Amino acid sequence: MSERDPATPPAKVVKGPRVRHGLVIVNTGEGKGKTTAALGVIFRAWGRDFKIRMFQFIKHTGARFGEHRAAKKLDIPIEPLGDGFTWLSKDMDRTAALAVEQWDHCKEAILNGDEDIIVLDEFTYAMHYGWVPVSEVVETLQSRRDTMHVIITGRYAPQELIDCADLVTEMKLIKHPYQDKGIKAQRGIEF
Ligand code: ATP
Ligand code: MG
Repeated sequence: MSERDPATPPAKVVKGPRVRHGLVIVNTGEGKGKTTAALGVIFRAWGRDFKIRMFQFIKHTGARFGEHRAAKKLDIPIEPLGDGFTWLSKDMDRTAALAVEQWDHCKEAILNGDEDIIVLDEFTYAMHYGWVPVSEVVETLQSRRDTMHVIITGRYAPQELIDCADLVTEMKLIKHPYQDKGIKAQRGIEF
């Protein structure tokens, strides 16, 4: 039996006082909700006075989406990738170089930062396209403080990352207003 019946308790129940156990969380898949699920966790963590840092690997020039505005009000740092980069960049060498540079910042924070939770938004692509070796990411995650939570979002999560993660959710596309009806992105829902 590969899938556990939710009614059955897990084989290994950890008893005793609630211990902080840092998790590696991956939100992947074709459906919408990967980044917003990470933002939802940030919102919850903020309510617990956690120290939070979010790195973004895709930046739309000058983006001031709802989440950027909210983060500013809540004093949560969101650090975009380089300057003036767009995902539609024709200069893929530059795109790759910026992603590698951003990963260096993430690595430093994961290994030496005092954050309780770090989000690497749209980071899976850097691994998928081979700009950042997955083995280096896994090694970095395994070397972090054991109370630090790390969330990685984006499609095409590599298997090696999935194997190392504690919590992996695949967003499944069932319907999307743009695909089904050509309805464009809605303010407050998508940006
Ligand atoms: P969100 O940020 O809303 O949680 P996401 O992180 O899961 O979305 P991304 O792959 O980062 O999704 O895509 C960003 C944007 O593209 C979102 O505004 C989303 O609505 C849109 N999008 C996601 N899936 C689709 C799809 N299948 N067709 C068209 N647009 C999509
Ligand atoms: Mg996203």
